[in-house]
Amino acid sequence: MNKKLIAGNWKMNGSLAANDALVRALVAGLAGQGGCDVAVAVPAPYLAQVQSLVAGSALALAAQDVSAHEAGAYTGEVSALMLRDFAVRYALVGHSERRQYHAESDACVALKAQRALAAGITPIVCVGETLAEREAGETEAVVRRQLAAVIHVNGHCISEVVVAYEPVWAIGTGKTATPEQAQQVHAVLRAQLAAASDKAARIRLLYGGSMNAGNAQQLLAQPDIDGGLVGGASLKPADFLQIIAAAQ
Ligand code: 13P
Repeated sequence: MNKKLIAGNWKMNGSLAANDALVRALVAGLAGQGGCDVAVAVPAPYLAQVQSLVAGSALALAAQDVSAHEAGAYTGEVSALMLRDFAVRYALVGHSERRQYHAESDACVALKAQRALAAGITPIVCVGETLAEREAGETEAVVRRQLAAVIHVNGHCISEVVVAYEPVWAIGTGKTATPEQAQQVHAVLRAQLAAASDKAARIRLLYGGSMNAGNAQQLLAQPDIDGGLVGGASLKPADFLQIIAAAQ
């Protein structure tokens, strides 16, 4: 069984004061716990602040996005090498909010994953279907297409990727996928990875979408769910620590 990974995605939330209180509470709560890996994906302006707050702790630093470009005239973009300067360990790529609001294509997401890997950062590749796609019976085809784009670009180093299944209809809605629904999609992703790599069993598959202190344990008990990508609940230290405890 893979060591589980619980990653918090703060999205566009936080302030110097709020981050300080949140991260200090998490670092204190994690002391002595080593049963799973834990990361927080913070807004880019706070990377330096959170880097110093997590130094020497079990909490890893993650970015919410990374540029598909290496360097140059790309106003507003943040490169993988810049993230590495701040000891960023993971970068989300292809979050549904990026795909939806910033028109990120599968090809763009694959390039981002490649940039992260080249800089020694583990991409957390997000996939997931919308409600309309689920209702049309397209869930499997959508997530397979989204994952295939990344596998094909990075076939040689696919084992260094983390994959997060986040059904769009479950994000921020309080409507969690049932453990069975999530496991069903995770099994599809695992089989797809197995066809591409003999290391597929080691690739961590996270579930995300309204994961909270009450439902984490059941979701994390599924055979192909190796962790969680947590939005809203990661902003509340007690809730996030309970999710982490459920992953031990
Ligand atoms: P919520 O946990 O708030 O539903 O967000 C999930 C998510 O999008 C994490 O990346």
